[in-house]
Amino acid sequence: MSDLSLWHATANKHPKRPSLEGEKTCDVVIIGGGFTGLSVAYHLQQRNVKTIVLEAQSVGWGASGRNGGEVLIGYVEPMSALAKKYGRETAKQMFQMSMDCVDVIANIIEKENIQCDFFRNGNMLTAYKPSHLDSLKKEQEFLYDEYHFETKVIEKEDMHTEMESTYYHGAHIDDKSAIFHPLNYCLGLADAVEKYGGTIYENSEAMKIEHPSKDEVVVKTRNGSVKAKHIGIFVNAYTTDLHKLIKRAIVPVESIVLATERLPEELCKRLIVNNRAACDTKNLLYYYRLSADHRMVFGGSGRTTSKRDAKRLFIHLQKGMTEVFPALKDAKVEYTWSGKVGFTIEKIPYIGQLDDGTHFAFGYAGHGAAMSTLLGKIVAANIVNEGDKNNPLDRSNLKPIPFHSHNAKGLGIMKYYFKIKDYIS
Ligand SMILES: Cc1cc2nc3c(=O)[nH]c(=O)nc-3n(C[C@H](O)[C@H](O)[C@H](O)COP(=O)(O)OP(=O)(O)OC[C@H]3O[C@@H](n4cnc5c(N)ncnc54)[C@H](O)[C@@H]3O)c2cc1C
Repeated sequence: MSDLSLWHATANKHPKRPSLEGEKTCDVVIIGGGFTGLSVAYHLQQRNVKTIVLEAQSVGWGASGRNGGEVLIGYVEPMSALAKKYGRETAKQMFQMSMDCVDVIANIIEKENIQCDFFRNGNMLTAYKPSHLDSLKKEQEFLYDEYHFETKVIEKEDMHTEMESTYYHGAHIDDKSAIFHPLNYCLGLADAVEKYGGTIYENSEAMKIEHPSKDEVVVKTRNGSVKAKHIGIFVNAYTTDLHKLIKRAIVPVESIVLATERLPEELCKRLIVNNRAACDTKNLLYYYRLSADHRMVFGGSGRTTSKRDAKRLFIHLQKGMTEVFPALKDAKVEYTWSGKVGFTIEKIPYIGQLDDGTHFAFGYAGHGAAMSTLLGKIVAANIVNEGDKNNPLDRSNLKPIPFHSHNAKGLGIMKYYFKIKDYIS
């Protein structure tokens, strides 16, 4: 078994980019070379705004190159719950954004000819308990009544039309979500940034930010510095002490993924009949999809803090996969990897500009493959003063999460709570 992700093992050919040396100047300095930072750079370069991206490791090294590649509409919580929390109008705007974000990605992939196995066949949210299917049916009604958005509910007895599994009690299907090879999308976005004149430095961790005057910011790395008019921090769950407020507004949660050996094509067509993204309604959810080279990619939750823990977790995850898909009981696991997912306290993404001028977008909670490109586009518009002031995700008045360091530990405790909840709900 390898610790390398399937995505890294099958990445398109890409350049190794230089690290920053000496003093540079640009309009906007962007910290973080994942989907968000690169999308900000891409959309600014389209307007001829000169950007420099600083990436501590390499392009797509963070969650953007490690995720499940499920490009989903919606948010962690159902739209009906968000409408109750934020009001009908705000929820409607949020829903529209979640639809738009998949279109934005599809357009970039087409325009820039990014080879990333993008298939827009929808997502199925599978019901772990009979009661969960009742909730999914209510959500289907809500989506139609509020947004005229048509989705499909599959009853347990018809699940064979979608997957070869008797594990679930039905599913709720949308046709707008997609899957892609996340790292290849990220690498393609980086190429496009450079094509339009942006610069990306790898192995260039931003270590210090200084504000010598109101209209000037300087970011220092080990061997160089960048002077700019604007700054954006897009490090999501890989946040460090670089910006204390941003760090204290994100809770990183680890997620683990495995990929099997290549499977017969005919078996793949039975396992997930319509080649959709899939995830289930458990609190400690499974998410899974097929890769373009016919592997099952199967993810779940878990913290791989020690090597022994990691081994146990992946064995457990593989067991979960074969419970869902008994046909995979003899399938070899060839890749295992993990990464950090960023959550905000509201479990929705945040975007905005702080009093010190720093632009930010983070906290996609497992929906960042979709939403990060759109929020990057909106940040770019904000920087050139073309943004929409009524963005429902704007949290420019960002507050730290109280007792932040305890929150990460709290999440460990929550995991056991969720396990019990999954069992009894
Ligand atoms: C295992 C896993 C599975 C997931 N599955 C899905 C999924 O199927 N669908 C979905 O929608 N979302 C999923 N997600 C979430 C999704 O991947 C993220 O929301 C998204 O990639 C966030 O992109 P980003 O650019 O904001 O952050 P990242 O991609 O994490 O990029 C942040 C970058 O900042 C860099 N950095 C940090 N500090 C500094 C510094 N000081 N200087 C310079 N660079 C720095 C890091 O090296 C990193 O490359 C998953 C995440 C994980 C980890």
